[in-house]
Amino acid sequence: MILFWHRRDRRTTDNRGLAAAVDADEGPVVPVYIFDPAVTEQMGERKRAFVECTVDALRRRYHELGRELVVRTGPAADVLTDLSDQYDVDRIVSNDCTDAARQAQTDAVEAALEVPLESHVDSVLVDPASLEPSYPTYSQFAADWKTHTKAPPASEPTPDALADITDTESIPTTATDIELPAAGYDAASDRLESFCASGIAHYRETRDDLARAVAEPTQAVSRLSPYLAVGAIGIREVWQRVIDVLETVDGAERRNVEKYADELTWREHNYHLLSYTPTLETENYDDPPNEIAWRTDADDFAAWKRGETGYPLVDAGMRQLEREGYIHNRPRQVVASFLTKHLLIDWRRGAAHFRERLVDHDPAVNAGNWQWIASTGTDSVDVRIFDPVAQLAKYDADATFVREYVPELADPSIPAERIVEWPTLSSERRQHLAPEYPAPIVDRNGAYERAQRVFERALGKRN
Ligand SMILES: Cc1cc2nc3c(=O)[nH]c(=O)nc-3n(C[C@H](O)[C@H](O)[C@H](O)COP(=O)(O)OP(=O)(O)OC[C@H]3O[C@@H](n4cnc5c(N)ncnc54)[C@H](O)[C@@H]3O)c2cc1C
Repeated sequence: MILFWHRRDRRTTDNRGLAAAVDADEGPVVPVYIFDPAVTEQMGERKRAFVECTVDALRRRYHELGRELVVRTGPAADVLTDLSDQYDVDRIVSNDCTDAARQAQTDAVEAALEVPLESHVDSVLVDPASLEPSYPTYSQFAADWKTHTKAPPASEPTPDALADITDTESIPTTATDIELPAAGYDAASDRLESFCASGIAHYRETRDDLARAVAEPTQAVSRLSPYLAVGAIGIREVWQRVIDVLETVDGAERRNVEKYADELTWREHNYHLLSYTPTLETENYDDPPNEIAWRTDADDFAAWKRGETGYPLVDAGMRQLEREGYIHNRPRQVVASFLTKHLLIDWRRGAAHFRERLVDHDPAVNAGNWQWIASTGTDSVDVRIFDPVAQLAKYDADATFVREYVPELADPSIPAERIVEWPTLSSERRQHLAPEYPAPIVDRNGAYERAQRVFERALGKRN
């Protein structure tokens, strides 16, 4: 008998490992999900709660098929050893996982099991093993990646391919301080459909429009990240849907849809990086010749986490994170740049905070993006520093996004231009306009120039 171990792939549709287990035609397959503390303890409680809801939806899907998902809590090596005996298992089939916690889990399982563990490439469109180990730039990665054929979505198994068993162990429930998105494959698929029906045709124009992100949060961008992060929907299914739309449009609309496909390519790039660089989550990918003189200022870090830096776009982004467990990509870049450049705080501390608070935390995408922003990753620019004032002027000039998340600045009598210029106003002016909102914790130009100096020294470009 084959036991199929659901890991990050919490769905029955477009699941390559599950489809392979069924196609092997070696008798009915037993599907299992394990809440292993070695992995769940690496998740913030919001993501853990979302994972639990997703597994609950997965179990309900198996029930709709008239079948059961075996659920266990405990070290995967012990659980799989027990289940192998209980069901007289010949082999265990699963899908690829490249993050450090799951790599260690795979090692422990392989050491403990007497039956083979087989793994399939499921989390990406192109197997990293079929690509070069590294590329000088993202563009070169994307150019090569595009030439590779993408597999179509895998079908959902029919009930007769699955074992007819009973199991009643309950799914753990973690309390959370926010309202989570609706969980599971159906919710993910509805979101994909609704975005592909209208949002995607304007994506390039709306993806950085922060007022639009407030007014139409799931049309300006897709908000698929929580579902992709927990594997509620397969990447081949998302890609196929995007290609279907691409075939029906041309001109400006086509460029919009292509931009969305590009973002999925960035995701592939991050997974490729992690698969060849297992230390991506903890060590600089591109170590500069000299050490970066990170600061360890506890007050600055605390103000950043609370969204009280006195930089409106940074604070709005950090408060969106607190309120929703999500940050729009534009402020996500700005808050990360502000932490690593203006405050000179190590990217690992920011990445750990994101891991703690994001529902959509994804080890490869989080680490890859933090390193890109911190200039220790694959950015082709030596030292990139986002100016939080210019970014606000460009992407939220009427301060709609800021007012949504920062109540101290919500009063319509405060002109949007003053909000944009806030860090450059005199303290008297700030006191007069919004006495409750914090003063900037660092000087705009001083912090920018300090970051430039520190990174140029690290790169050996100045003494
Ligand atoms: C510092 C930092 C940390 C990040 N951490 C995460 C994380 O933990 N999990 C996560 O899913 N995304 C992360 N991102 C990437 C990006 O911000 C989110 O994927 C995006 O905002 C999610 O919203 P969406 O689904 O509406 O995206 P859309 O704009 O609709 O994009 C669709 C999908 O494309 C992929 N994508 C989009 N932007 C990127 C990107 N820059 N890199 C890789 N893939 C991308 C995602 O899978 C996303 O769901 C991070 C970005 C930064 C700058």
